[in-house]
Amino acid sequence: MNTKNIIIIGSGLGGLSAALRLSSLGHKVTVLEKHSTAGGRLNQIKADEFTFDLGPSFMSMTYELKELFESCGIDMPVRLVELNPIYQVYFEDREKPFRIWKDLNKLEQEFAGIEPDLAKKAERYLKRAGQIFHDTEYRVVKRNFKNKLDYILKLTRVPPKHLPFLFKNMWKEVENNFSSEEIRIIFSLVAFFLGSTPFQTPAIYTILNYTELKHDGYWKIEGGMYRLVEALVKLLEERNVKIVYNTEVTGVEHTNGTLNAVVDQNGKQWKADLFIANADAASFRGTILHRPNYSEKHLDAMDWTLAPFTVYLGVRGKIDGLMHHNYFLGSNFRGYADTIFTSTISPQKPYYYVNVPTKSYSECAPEGCENVFILCPVPDLRFKKDWSDKEQLADTIISDLSKRTGFDIQKNTLQRITLSPVEWADMLNLYKGSGLGLAHGMNQVGAFRPRNKDEKLSNLYYVGASTVPGTGLPMVIISSKLVLERILNDNGSVLKN
Ligand SMILES: Cc1cc2nc3c(=O)[nH]c(=O)nc-3n(C[C@H](O)[C@H](O)[C@H](O)COP(=O)(O)OP(=O)(O)OC[C@H]3O[C@@H](n4cnc5c(N)ncnc54)[C@H](O)[C@@H]3O)c2cc1C
Repeated sequence: MNTKNIIIIGSGLGGLSAALRLSSLGHKVTVLEKHSTAGGRLNQIKADEFTFDLGPSFMSMTYELKELFESCGIDMPVRLVELNPIYQVYFEDREKPFRIWKDLNKLEQEFAGIEPDLAKKAERYLKRAGQIFHDTEYRVVKRNFKNKLDYILKLTRVPPKHLPFLFKNMWKEVENNFSSEEIRIIFSLVAFFLGSTPFQTPAIYTILNYTELKHDGYWKIEGGMYRLVEALVKLLEERNVKIVYNTEVTGVEHTNGTLNAVVDQNGKQWKADLFIANADAASFRGTILHRPNYSEKHLDAMDWTLAPFTVYLGVRGKIDGLMHHNYFLGSNFRGYADTIFTSTISPQKPYYYVNVPTKSYSECAPEGCENVFILCPVPDLRFKKDWSDKEQLADTIISDLSKRTGFDIQKNTLQRITLSPVEWADMLNLYKGSGLGLAHGMNQVGAFRPRNKDEKLSNLYYVGASTVPGTGLPMVIISSKLVLERILNDNGSVLKN
């Protein structure tokens, strides 16, 4: 393919990965970013001597990250550290948390007297999930489709024995395999990583249990997740990629099916041969391109993942009860999961996740202090518009966490930042504050997800969480490979693996 001028709209991991792949091939790439820093959801917040990762706190399928750098002829610029134990889970009615180990015999010991023969049962369950993973990874996940028919034909190559997993939910599958409520809940927590609940998520996503407990596992990045963005930005600078910050694309100029320029909030036109939107692939089509199929009414009718409610705390002292990754669950799991999506009020007894990077790295907080990130999945702005009560919800969570860890967090708080879905939506243009973008029901994956090539403008492409294959850090890296493949293919070249 001849050298092209390429504009990428957005500097999330999807946009940065696409920029690295294209600039490594010699193309001239400019990235336009609405926010003041790069990374999108994989960002950071600084408050005095505390440095917080904004969103993601771990990564799976790290071989996708390795592939990104290897394919560009670059040595891995960050150090990955595997989580072991992966995380711990606090239940409301138990003082001691359960530690979740990849070693299934160790896991069985942790649940002695609760889930008999856990190692054997988990082995069988994970073997089944692993078969689905390997039978779909190359056939449907890491693949571009010409159209819906092409997708359906590719699906027919997946062994039909997996078909029932499309029609039952994840909870049903864990219920069939495990007898204790504790293990059922813990194995179904991965549904929340998809921004959903196990009662809404098809059982094929038990593949996430496989990636967590058997396959590549979960990894952190030494020094914090933002190190990855810093490394990417440096590599892009070396390749003369310009990232223009505080620049939001608000309009487009096109003629005869070709996009000539995108227009920013100040009316400036940015011209290029080729454009890639890393902004949400569904809402960009609606808000910027004004496509009737993506009007607000249509977007609202789609299935979106839960919104994040996040609290960043700089705490004086060390909190002994916490590890790097922790879950705090309440009672009535089913009732909670059934109502959080559509509730119009803040959760009264919230379930939440706590990440404490200072348990692994000291540099993100002053000496003797703890860096605490709390994430509570909440309804998006379609259901709960008013978040003026956000500090009350933060107080509820902090007081619960203090009680359950036996450490007075309120009294020792040096820094506190609270972000509700309103701020998440404004900051990064996340549609109605949805944290992970479009959900992953069968009607919104593969060829039924917004395509990575525009329907009408021949030189406009998409990368990121709401186009193929889906959300999460490894998926958006795959997305950058798929869009490169699509672009090369359209221009008479092929991607060399
Ligand atoms: C709280 C939270 C925790 C998470 N935890 C994990 C985790 O632990 N592990 C994991 O794998 N995944 C996690 N995820 C998911 C992961 O963060 C996302 O799937 C991934 O980062 C999405 O990357 P992206 O490139 O698609 O989009 P984004 O990161 O959203 O980047 C898009 C960029 O485009 C910019 N933009 C948007 N519109 C415009 C416009 N019109 N003009 C210019 N710029 C624009 C935005 O400002 C943004 O910088 C988490 C997400 C959240 C919210």
